[in-house]
Amino acid sequence: MNILVINAGSSSLKYQLIRMEDESILCKGVCERIGIDGKYSYKAMNGYKVEKEADLFTHKDAFDVILHEMVQGEGHVIDSVNEIAAIGHRVTHGGDKFSHSVLVDEATIDAIANMRDISPLHNPPQAATIRACRTVFGEALPMAAVFDTAFHATMPPKAYTFAIPYKYYEEHGVRRYGFHGTSHRYVSGRMAELLGEMPHRLITCHLGNGSSLAAIKDGKVVDTSMGFTPLDGIIMGTRCGSIDPSIVSYIANLENLHERGMNRLLNNESGLLGVSGVSSDFRDVLEEAENGNERAQLAADMLEYQLVKLIGSYAAALGGVDAILFTGGIGENAMGLREQVMDDGTGVCYRVPEFDLEVSAQDENPYKTMEYNQLALQLFQMGFFREDMADQALRCLELMEFKNKDQLTAAILQGKQQAAMAQTAEGAASGGGMAVKQTAMERMRQQTHEAVRPR
Ligand code: ADP
Repeated sequence: MNILVINAGSSSLKYQLIRMEDESILCKGVCERIGIDGKYSYKAMNGYKVEKEADLFTHKDAFDVILHEMVQGEGHVIDSVNEIAAIGHRVTHGGDKFSHSVLVDEATIDAIANMRDISPLHNPPQAATIRACRTVFGEALPMAAVFDTAFHATMPPKAYTFAIPYKYYEEHGVRRYGFHGTSHRYVSGRMAELLGEMPHRLITCHLGNGSSLAAIKDGKVVDTSMGFTPLDGIIMGTRCGSIDPSIVSYIANLENLHERGMNRLLNNESGLLGVSGVSSDFRDVLEEAENGNERAQLAADMLEYQLVKLIGSYAAALGGVDAILFTGGIGENAMGLREQVMDDGTGVCYRVPEFDLEVSAQDENPYKTMEYNQLALQLFQMGFFREDMADQALRCLELMEFKNKDQLTAAILQGKQQAAMAQTAEGAASGGGMAVKQTAMERMRQQTHEAVRPR
């Protein structure tokens, strides 16, 4: 069964055709500058690649071009459109209406389009894209709409209500919705899959051009940082994140800006770009900071500080935290940032970025890492020692990225050594051995406390 997945913007359309049996990508590409002039790329699994300019006046034109490449082009990957079993569309805003993915019918398309008030930039073009897709592929082909907001639908009112007159929620749907839901859902699910269980209290950090965090309790989102729109939360590539709302009217008056101009300033000219004056791209910002650019350094410091602050507040909201997960271009690759965030006082024991999970998944002897982590910590905190468990804990420390991993490893190794000495002493002189053992235990407990306690 092949599924075509579509991620449409107002002037772009990204696509992948996936063979579900082995989840391999048969072909993928992007159509850009739709409605302006148009160009597209197509890459097939057999290595065929094409990048062309084409008249893409509408999204329907884009679908025609893609379909032609997939079915009849030089690098075609299927023989007929009938080999596509279903289509999935990413939709930005599901509002209060959609708390999970749905099969698309006319009413769904209307509902998506009708959310233009709360999502003017995304929902109307996405509804139009789904309609165009139905025209090209026919109404009989099942299509699903997958909403960025849906995973956050479990948030309680105290997390999603803004402290403004209530009628704006009741009559106009002004509340926190949250975005990046597909990402938060995927990474939390993948983590649970690889660890064998869902962490009880998890914080997922999606850090890309747009960034958001989610506080997840037993697999359900209880809070998230993006709000009514994706503008809220932490500093992003070009978006400001949370700011004092009075700044909006103050700058609007100062610059004589109206809604559009103000939206552009906050969405496209702020964030890392606005502060650094260099770039919205975190790699560029880091490079400039290394070269001594103080504003670039400030932008990087702000991202790190805001992350620590938000993680700390979510840890409080969750009543503690068992795991923090980083994903997105920055989250996966900026190891220095992750290190710094974990070192700067988040008060958590360990973190499990996606790529580390992949490592443990490939291990020929995957085991219940989470349980062993907890067991090891509890074991040493309580002052008990069992050599077989210490070995498992050490193996676990090798696989996972623990906070204060080195200290913890050293404490366990030293504990092993001292326990072995204690056993020898016990054998040599009964009575004296017990005292040696207790001293070793006490020291171990102290060191372990130092290693695992929140800074
Ligand atoms: P999008 O939100 O557009 O999908 P990505 O998730 O691809 O974006 O993330 C893009 C961001 O990831 C950019 O700011 C980029 O600089 C950053 N990034 C990618 N690789 C690295 C790296 N090695 N170190 C630091 N930042 C990186």
